Amino acid sequence: MSDEINKDTIPGDGENQDNKKELEDVCYICHRPESTAGKMIHIPNNIAICKDCMQKTFDSMAGFGFGGGNNAADDAHNLNNIDLGSIGLLNFGDLSSLFPNNIPESQRVKKKKPQEAKKGPDIKPVFDIEHIPHPHEIRAKLDEYVVGQDQAKKIISVAVYNHYKRVATNTMDSIEIDKSNILMIGPTGSGKTYLVRTLAKLLDVPLAIADATSLTEAGYIGDDIESVISKLLAASGNDVEKAETGIVFIDEIDKIAKKKNTNQRDVSGEAVQQGMLKLLEGSDVEVPVGASSKNAMVPMTTINTKNILFICGGAFPDLADIVKERLNKSSAMGFVSDLKDKYDDDENILTKVTVEDLRKFGMIPEFIGRLPVLCVLNTLSEDMLVRILSEPKNAIIKQYQKLLALDEVNLVFTDDALHAIAHKAKEKELGARALRAIIEEFMLDIMYEVPKDDNIGTVTITADYVNGNGAPLIEMRSVTKQERLPADTQ
Ligand code: ADP
Repeated sequence: MSDEINKDTIPGDGENQDNKKELEDVCYICHRPESTAGKMIHIPNNIAICKDCMQKTFDSMAGFGFGGGNNAADDAHNLNNIDLGSIGLLNFGDLSSLFPNNIPESQRVKKKKPQEAKKGPDIKPVFDIEHIPHPHEIRAKLDEYVVGQDQAKKIISVAVYNHYKRVATNTMDSIEIDKSNILMIGPTGSGKTYLVRTLAKLLDVPLAIADATSLTEAGYIGDDIESVISKLLAASGNDVEKAETGIVFIDEIDKIAKKKNTNQRDVSGEAVQQGMLKLLEGSDVEVPVGASSKNAMVPMTTINTKNILFICGGAFPDLADIVKERLNKSSAMGFVSDLKDKYDDDENILTKVTVEDLRKFGMIPEFIGRLPVLCVLNTLSEDMLVRILSEPKNAIIKQYQKLLALDEVNLVFTDDALHAIAHKAKEKELGARALRAIIEEFMLDIMYEVPKDDNIGTVTITADYVNGNGAPLIEMRSVTKQERLPADTQ
C-alpha cells in the first residue's frame, strides 16, 4: 500500500527522482536513513516518512478521534490496515512548516547495493584477490614518492597486502585471519602521514586522518572516538561500503598515553585507548552522516569497522629514554657489559622498541595488542633530506622547476646548495617538514623578480645564496645571442 501512495502522490517525480535514487531516503521526522528505519512512505513535497513515525502519527491521531471506521484505534495499530481516507485528514504540507529544513543531500548516505547483485558474475567485489597489488609492487610504488624508510615501507606493504587479502577472502578454511592494524613510531617530519597518504592514493581507498589529541571519552568536551569513522564516511562520499574498506590514520597517538600521577579521571588518555579497542578490533558503530557530532537533527548510519585498516602514528618523545634505560640495564651486567653511554648517540634507538617499552610509556596492553604490526621510521639524515628535495616524483625542487619552466626559465640547484638546505633543515629538528619553509624563504625573491624580466634564461641557486652570503647566478637568455652577434659580424 505504501508503494501505491508512493507512485500516486509524488508530483513531478521524473529525472529529479532518478538522480536521487542513489541516495537513501531519510525519515523527515526521526531522521533515520532507509537502511536503519526500513522502507519509507513518500508523501507530497518530496517528504519521506518511516513506518514507525507514520504509525506514531496515526496512533496520536486515533487518540484525537480521527480515522475511518468504528474501531479507528485498532486499525491504526496495524499500518497495513490504514484507511487511505484518513491520510487525507492530515495536511502533510503543514509538516514542512513544522520541520522547515528538508534533509540536505550532504547528510544522506548512498544506497547499499543489494546482496544478490554482489554475487553476480559481472560485479566484482571491492577488492579482488587477483588484483591486490603484491607487497613488492606496493613497495615499488611507494619508493617513487617516499625516500628511505626501507624497513617501514616493507612492513607496511606486507601488512596492507595481508589486510586486503583478508578483506577479499573474508575467511580462509574457516581460519579467521586477524586484522593487521599498524602502529607507526617515528620522529616528527619523518614521513608518517605522508606514507599513509601515498598508500591510500595508490590503493584508491578512502582515508581519514584524525588527531588523537582532540579525542575524549564520550560525553566530555572534545570529539567522540567514533568521529574518526564519520570522517572516513565523509572521505568516501557517504558511501558506507567504500568506507568499510578504507584506512583511518590516527596521528599523535602518543598523546593518549595513560597520564601518570593523576587522581582525576583520565578522559583524554587511558579512557580514549579503552574506547578505541572496539573500533580497532571491529564492531558496528553508529555514526552521524554529514556531520562530525551526533545530535537529534543529524541522520545516523551504521558502519562496521571489521575491514577498516587502522594506522596509528606518533613521535613517542620519551620512548627513546625508556628503551635506552632497558638496554643499558641489560648490558651493564656480567663480563660482556657495555659502556653506559653506548646508546646515547644512537639516533635510531627506537628500532629496538618492544611492547614492554610501550606499556611503560603509558599505552595499555589491550591497545598495543590490537595494533600487532609495529613499524619504526628513522630520523632523516642530511643525505636523505637531500634526496627528498630532488628525488620523489613530486619533489619540492621539481615543483619549483616546473613553476619557472612555465615562464621558460631554467632553475638549477647546485649540489652544495641542496646540502646547505638539508643542513639547515636538520638543525631545526623538524625532519623533512622544515625543507619547504627554508626553500620558500629564499625562493620568494626569485619568484617575485624573475617574471619581471623576459630575458632571464637560467637561475642557479648556490650554497652561498642559501646561506645568505650572495645572490643567485642569473644567466640571460639573450646575452649569449648578443655576445655572439658582434663576434659573427666581425
Ligand atoms: P610526520 O611524520 O610528522 O607525519 P609528515 O609525513 O607530515 O611527517 O611529513 C612532512 C612532509 O615531509 C611530507 O609532506 C613530505 O612532503 C615530506 N617527507 C617526510 N618524509 C619523507 C620521505 N621519507 N620521503 C619524501 N618526503 C618526505
